[in-house]
Order: sequence, then structure tokens, then C-alpha cells
Amino acid sequence: MLFSKVIGHAALKAKLIGNIREGRVAHAQLFMGPRGGGNLALALAYAQYLLCQDRDEADACGQCSSCLQMAKLEHPDVHLEFPVFFTEKVKVCEPFTAQWRQAVRQNPYLDIEQWRDQLESENKQLRMGVDIAQEIQRKLSLRSFMGGYKVMLIWLPELMDAPAANKLLKVLEEPEPNTVFLLVSVDAEQLLATILSRAQLVKVPALRPTDLAEALRERFPELAEEEAMAIALRSEGDLLEAVDMANKNEEELFVFFRDWLRACFKREVNVAVEFGEAFQKMGRERQKLLMRYGLYLIRQCALQWQNVPELVRVLGQEQEFVQNFSKLLNDANVDAIRRELETAHYHIERNANPKILFSDLSYRMMGLLRATVVT
Ligand SMILES: [Zn+2]
Repeated sequence: MLFSKVIGHAALKAKLIGNIREGRVAHAQLFMGPRGGGNLALALAYAQYLLCQDRDEADACGQCSSCLQMAKLEHPDVHLEFPVFFTEKVKVCEPFTAQWRQAVRQNPYLDIEQWRDQLESENKQLRMGVDIAQEIQRKLSLRSFMGGYKVMLIWLPELMDAPAANKLLKVLEEPEPNTVFLLVSVDAEQLLATILSRAQLVKVPALRPTDLAEALRERFPELAEEEAMAIALRSEGDLLEAVDMANKNEEELFVFFRDWLRACFKREVNVAVEFGEAFQKMGRERQKLLMRYGLYLIRQCALQWQNVPELVRVLGQEQEFVQNFSKLLNDANVDAIRRELETAHYHIERNANPKILFSDLSYRMMGLLRATVVT
């Protein structure tokens, strides 16, 4: 993971980079921070920068063999430990490493719940026992593959039981040269105080609302600045929470927009009137958001219709919608539908009566979609 891909934390990144460049690499470091704040992402970026063969002042190169291996989380000198559920036979990380890599590559901001989902181990407890501590020792006894630092990244060490934590403590007390422990924790209170005292603290704060809002808008392009900011504030700097909120938000908008268009297409005037009433109750900001969301979705439909599906950026039920609705588009209506939504947005902004505006929009949409069927 490159530092540039980690959301926010500009000052902390600069400090971590500065430490490495000045040769101050603490033997054990505790990346501690709240859920969804990016502590794991930062620890991974730190490891990548430390091992990069061609880093510059701001980031790892992203291209050397070390960086390419880090991108896949398959660097031979980066050892990964994390909580797992125990079976009769298996109490170590090794059998789960491929799954963990995949989960973290998909989302370096994941939390324990998402990891549990990935393992499909709903009711099982995720733990780190003494076998994992032994696994750590065994991995540390391996020689560095590339001849440089060896990194032992332990995700959620607070889930170690007492025997495991004590064994880890012994390892930390006898530092080996060129070995760096990166402990990544969300709940340091659960960690042994003695372990805490052995590690240099890297305090990762919650994301700043502005950074989080910007990251949200990259993932949800239809969100306006103020909407993204509102979600960022409500989620208190937790990316996972914010993405959840934005998804729910989007889901509601999607269902509304899809079902309304369906009613327009079928010329169900009564249903369209009901949508108009619901629309009126939404409030102006949300009415605008619905129009922007609709525009976004219609643009995706237009791309599908223009036969450039590789540019279409939708998933799940949106994808289904895009495939179906794009069949209703033609030269005559594709721009007109877009213009109708833009115009509606424009008028909402200028305090148009929402009920009249929406029923007007519904009738125009019925006309535009009817044209498709005739031709
Ligand atoms: Zn590199």
C-alpha cells in the first residue's frame, strides 16, 4: 500500500517517512487508532516504504520488486499474523493467510467483523493463542529473503490470550537486528501493559471530516460536497461507518429512482402522483441529491447504450437496472432525459414548488420513455 493511497493523516505520514529516512526505525511500533481510521493501511504503507528499493521523499516507488510484492501482500520478508478461529487441528494463521490477504487487498480499512464475514465463521470467536506466538517465533527464525528488514505485522494483538501475549513479550524483549514489529490495534486497553511499554506508540487519530468527505466522494461520485461532509461528520471519522451510511443512502435513492422510472415507463399516473408526494416530503437537499443521483445513473445507462460498458461504474442491482434501462434509450431521448433531470435540479435549487415540478417531470419522462416504445 502506498502512502498516497492512505486517506488523510498527512502529518503522521510525513513523520513516519521522516523517521525511516533518518534511520530511526523502532524495533516495535504500535499503530493504535479507532475503527475505520486507517491504522492497518498506515502500517502497510510504512512497511512498503521501509522495504522499497527506490523510495523518494514522499512515498515508495510502487514499481520495484519489493513494492510489487507488497501490493499483493506477498512480500517474503513481511510476515502477517491476525486473529483466526480455532479448529481441532488448526490454531495458527498460515492456512488463512491467502484469505486475509484477499480481504485486506479489497479493503485495508476492514475491521474484525468484516474479517469474520470473510471467514464465514459467524458465531465463532476469533482468537490468537499460544500456537500463533510460536508461529511468530518460527517465522522470525527465517532469514531475511531480500537481505534487508524483516517485518512482523500483527493485526489486533489485543486478541491474544495471556500465554500468547507473554510469549510475544519475550520476543519483544530480545530484539533481533533488522526486525520490525508492527502491532496494529484498535483497543490498546486490552493489550498487556508490558507489551505497550515495549512498543513505540504511533497514534492514528480518527479521520478528519474533510479527508473522509473527499474519500467518500471518490467512492460515491453523486454525493455533493455538503452531503459527503454531513456523512463524514455523523460517522465521526470512521470510514466503515461512513461507507455504510452512504450505501444505505444510495440504496434508498436507487429504489426511489428505479421505481419511479418504472411507473413513468408504464404510464401509471396514480403511482407517479404518489412518488410526487413522497418527493415533496424529502426536503430540498435530498430532492437535489435524488436528481444528481438520477443523473449519475442515467449517465451510466448512456455509456451502456453507447456500447462502452467498460466505463460503466455500477454494481449489483444498479448494474441490472443499467442493463435494462439502457435498452429504452435512443438518439431522441438520451440527452433529453439528462436535460430534464438537470433542469429539475436547477429549479429545486431556486425554490420551485416540488410537487408541481415533480409531476411535470413525471409527465415529461412518460413522454420520453413512450417514444422509445413507439420507435
Ligand atoms: Zn518500491
